Amino acid sequence: MIFGVKIRFDFFKLLILAVVVTAISSCATAPLPVSQGPATDIIYKPYGTAARQDISHIIGPAETVYRISRMYDVPIDTILKANNIADPKELRIGQKLVIPQAASLRPVIPVFRSSKWRYIVIHHSVTDSGDAQSLDLIHRRRGFDRGLGYHFVIDNGTSTRIDGQIEASPRWIKQSDGAHCNTGGMNECGIGICLVGDFTNEEPSRKQMDSLVLLVNTLRKFYHISLSRVIRHKDVPGKNTACPGDSFPWKEFKDRVKSGR
Ligand SMILES: [Zn+2]
Repeated sequence: MIFGVKIRFDFFKLLILAVVVTAISSCATAPLPVSQGPATDIIYKPYGTAARQDISHIIGPAETVYRISRMYDVPIDTILKANNIADPKELRIGQKLVIPQAASLRPVIPVFRSSKWRYIVIHHSVTDSGDAQSLDLIHRRRGFDRGLGYHFVIDNGTSTRIDGQIEASPRWIKQSDGAHCNTGGMNECGIGICLVGDFTNEEPSRKQMDSLVLLVNTLRKFYHISLSRVIRHKDVPGKNTACPGDSFPWKEFKDRVKSGR
């Protein structure tokens, strides 16, 4: 009887090993959400240098009072009181919040322990303006029932967002597959980052590029992604697209990522 239990235990261990080996040998067979616990927020120095002041903030996709409190360095209770909110779960996307004595907005990049992510894929929105909320609407109208297909959006200073602002999407917070590149298994193992703008003829803003370098290197370091696996949408075999646009400064960007500046 004891022997039987031992055999089953070893078989179980082998089964787990087989699942792990399969998971790391192919994008297509990677298991679905492998989020292992809460996010670790990596917080960088603010985008600007404004003194503390009362501001209003439009709630974007995946933003919670907790996340907003970290973005502006204001306690959760202060935000709840200032807006007469009894239950933080009542918040909805697009709602305007008063943030008393907000510090200059800071990039807050949540990361989750995971073996799922092995590529970073760069896109442009092919819109002159927008943010995570407006791109979420566009994707829903296109039939993506889980909304915004990217994992991160880097804004260009339109739609109430700051130039270079990094927004983490609900798919990233849930560690779900993307809907940004349907070939090469990239939706399953590629982190999709979209810069707002149309870079067919124009380049991204300097601040967008600074934020992209910061975000890509943060993700590369945390998920051990090599430079060669930071790719453009158009680099994915089988894709007939110019994304992220012919004017995107790819070589300059890769040099900056490599040097870390
Ligand atoms: Zn694209």
